[in-house]
Amino acid sequence: MSTPDPPDIYSPAATAGTRAAPPTTLPLTGATIDRASELRDDHHEVKRLLDHPRAAVLGASAGSVLIGELPRPRLLRRPLAGNINPHQPILLGLEAGAPLFAADLDDPEAQSQASDTGLGRLVTLREAGLLLPQAESGLAAYLVALLGWHRNHRFCARCGSPTRMAQAGLARRCPNCSANHFPRTDPVVIMLVDDGAGNILLGRRIGWEAGRFSILAGYVAPGETPEEAVVREVDEESAVRAHSPRYVASQPWPFPASLMLGYEASAETDGAKRPQPQPGEMIEVGWFSHEQVREATLRDRPDNSDRPGASALRLPGEVSIARRLIDGWVARGGRRLAR
Ligand SMILES: [Zn+2]
Repeated sequence: MSTPDPPDIYSPAATAGTRAAPPTTLPLTGATIDRASELRDDHHEVKRLLDHPRAAVLGASAGSVLIGELPRPRLLRRPLAGNINPHQPILLGLEAGAPLFAADLDDPEAQSQASDTGLGRLVTLREAGLLLPQAESGLAAYLVALLGWHRNHRFCARCGSPTRMAQAGLARRCPNCSANHFPRTDPVVIMLVDDGAGNILLGRRIGWEAGRFSILAGYVAPGETPEEAVVREVDEESAVRAHSPRYVASQPWPFPASLMLGYEASAETDGAKRPQPQPGEMIEVGWFSHEQVREATLRDRPDNSDRPGASALRLPGEVSIARRLIDGWVARGGRRLAR
């Protein structure tokens, strides 16, 4: 099945000397569901939603979502009966007034399993990010992130006792020590670093095949701002001194629980000093020219897969903010965004 051209996170006006327009169209963003936070503590209200005639359930397993494709791809809405545990409902929210619940197809106690796809099929979240319309793509990220959190947080982080679901799936509570636990998201900075002369810094992590590179990324540390994390991570992973980080866009990345904070940053190349990969983490880091990177973006397209390349550079997939930052830089001719 062909996939639509992925939207660009930059407006056409976002060329050198202008600021990036507010980005809204990254894959895995844009859910429009009402998360119904005001209803969640009311048992009667949740019971009413479970009995709602238009209530539906979305299914997902770790990293994959259940979709239907008629008349066009969308997350498969299934009836609640037989597909959800009514005593442990995970309410995603309200969709045009109709409640939407979530079911973990990997849960051994779940009513339906990953093998039971019915009229749908399981696709990876990465595939779904490009295949589904914008709001469905964002909803898929929410679904996978929330189910993943429940799957991995069954025990109290304070006392170790088994926890119970609360707030119709948006919290867990410890019956032993009364601690409340809420879905967590881990901030990660990801940054396109350019040298102002038409080159960007790319790295290859341990475990990646030869030729596969991406822009650098790393978790925000406790007590650190994202901007500080950009500078620290670039230094740690490449020994390059980056400065002037500029925020561009963000993207939920529930593999399993990250929020990618996309930045551009500047660095000055020092001809005498090459970037140095961090031992134990990176195999290679280096500056790549606009021509090298542009060539790799063209070669990646399905209809150009046999296009001869000047290099074997392979870039991240089009679902990722990494690729969108790279594509934005290529599209504006390798020029630096204004600060
Ligand atoms: Zn506890």
